[in-house]
Amino acid sequence: MRPAGWLPTLTLLLALLPAAAPAFSPLLEPEPAAPTRAARFDAVLQKVIGPESMDASTSDYAAWLEQLRVLLPPGDRTREVQFRSVYCTSPRWKDPQQGLAYSDEALKAAQAVGDLASQGRALFCRTNFVQTLRGTRQAITDADRMVALLEHSSEQQLLGEALMLRGSLLSDVGEQARALLDFQRARAAFRAAGIHREVNALLVQIATAYRRMGDFAQAEVYFQRDLARARAAGDWEQQLLDLTQLGYLYEESDQLPKARQAFEDALALALRHEDRLSVAGARLGLASALIAQGEFDAALTALSQARAAFAAEGFAGNDGLLLLVTGQAYAGKGEHRVALAHYQLALPKIEQDGNLRYLALLYQARAASEEALGQLALALADYKRYAELQSKMRLEQSRLLEYEYEIRRRDFENRRLQAEAQSRQLQLNLLQRERRWQSLALLLGALLLGVLAVLAWRQWQRARQLRTLAMTDPLTGTASRLAIEKILDAALADAHRHARPLSVLLLDLDHFKEINDGHGHAAGDTVLRLVTQAWQTQLRDDDRLGRLGGEEFAVVCPGATEAQAEVIANRLLDATRHLDLSAIDPGLRITTSIGISQAQHDDSRERLLRRADVALYQAKQDGRDRSIRASAVAP
Ligand code: GH3
Ligand code: MG
Ligand code: MG
Repeated sequence: MRPAGWLPTLTLLLALLPAAAPAFSPLLEPEPAAPTRAARFDAVLQKVIGPESMDASTSDYAAWLEQLRVLLPPGDRTREVQFRSVYCTSPRWKDPQQGLAYSDEALKAAQAVGDLASQGRALFCRTNFVQTLRGTRQAITDADRMVALLEHSSEQQLLGEALMLRGSLLSDVGEQARALLDFQRARAAFRAAGIHREVNALLVQIATAYRRMGDFAQAEVYFQRDLARARAAGDWEQQLLDLTQLGYLYEESDQLPKARQAFEDALALALRHEDRLSVAGARLGLASALIAQGEFDAALTALSQARAAFAAEGFAGNDGLLLLVTGQAYAGKGEHRVALAHYQLALPKIEQDGNLRYLALLYQARAASEEALGQLALALADYKRYAELQSKMRLEQSRLLEYEYEIRRRDFENRRLQAEAQSRQLQLNLLQRERRWQSLALLLGALLLGVLAVLAWRQWQRARQLRTLAMTDPLTGTASRLAIEKILDAALADAHRHARPLSVLLLDLDHFKEINDGHGHAAGDTVLRLVTQAWQTQLRDDDRLGRLGGEEFAVVCPGATEAQAEVIANRLLDATRHLDLSAIDPGLRITTSIGISQAQHDDSRERLLRRADVALYQAKQDGRDRSIRASAVAP
């Protein structure tokens, strides 16, 4: 879409096509094959709305619009909506009322099909026509609507154009700070749309705002550069615009000959291209340069020519300014009453337009004439109004600085927040990774512990089984030889320590070999189990029975003297004699012989057992089935 630069003024826009442009009649064109036609329409539309349009010359752009009109496939609703949304910018709409009506239709059609981009473009047109018909302030409201519509859409180029248009309107009425803010946002939107080169129209808008703020040097550099570019590109419309801007710039910076030269160049260019509105515009500019140089009659001539041309073209947009400048020319000639009459007519038009710059100029001029006529109170009031507007506009400059500061601060803040969010995310990731590793390590640790615990438990059980095996005689369940020796050692130590008696019995079954021989080894085993069970029932809790091997056993009797041990031995002898072995053989009987020995002072296990063994041997010798005390045996 063609950038806003040329649209707000409409001066150039309306003069683009010959006055007798053919009526809008797409159906009269020869109809190409449908797909080709649609494809060609799309290709041209892309030029009109795409990046290419940003730096297209005004006449190229107008030519593309006419191509579109011819190519629009009949009955294609989608493309018709797109077509209307761009064709509303056509220079065809000489009557702004008609243009506004067409734009409104285009807007409604785009809304009906939910085509956001086309809505935005139709609003773009509407904004321009509203400016012409109802003033710049009213147009800014439309521009706000357009920006709001596009702000969160993906239509970045269109958003850039909308911002540029709104910025130019704001600049027109003197709000340079907000204008420059929009231009800055427009630049960002163009970048987002992939347009990275500087857009000339935007540069010119920025330069205009600088000029209006009084930053002439900066603005002049821009305009001169763009003028050179437009000359090289053969874009005479853009040259006209640059020359006009330079004219006003030189006039405002009191470089009057240069101002006059610029307007004269603009006039010559417009005349050469028979562009009547631009001719009128150049004459209007020239008139103010002439006034500044004191050539009031020449100025009045230029102004009446300009007024006639604007009226012939039906363009009322410059009426306020025309009246103001005409008044200034009369004031220059000393005709202050005539001047005041012009100012009086100019005031409502300029007020309606909301243009603070022109309003300030008007109050200044009116005050001067009132002063000249001796109307001092009125003059003072107007000077006051003038001064207030001036300071209001000067405020713009400082507000701009605030805005720039705000933009930088926001940008900085955004970047800081982004960086913070990034580092927080990074930390979070690290922490999560660390936690994952920790959990894994914990899990592995727990698993390892579990495995170790199971292994340790098994090991402990096995050791316990082994110890039980080692300490228990597997056949009889009594203490093993190893166990009974340990028990005896402990009991001996205990007896020595507490000086208590301790006795030991050694038992050997009598003629056991005969049972094995007579009833088999298994029967022998059964006898061993039964006899030990019988003995266990005869023993005190502290007495411990162990198997030394074969059919030999020992009983450790802590706290028992030899005499007390003999009582125990007799109970065992008795239990053996009466053992019921009927399960093996009803007539089977068994007896045992027992040697008894009490521990002496400082006795060792070996000595104690040896004495018991000697006593046992004596019992065998004496006929078996009896107990013999070691003390009764001769050493
Ligand atoms: P004595 O009255 O002189 O002690 O005669 P004895 O037959 O008991 O003595 P001997 O030492 O001659 O025989 C012991 C027998 O005990 C020899 C062996 O076969 C038997 N024996 C040893 N250990 C076991 C065993 O665990 N089970 C069985 N069934 N017999 C065993
Ligand atoms: Mg034996
Ligand atoms: Mg024996």
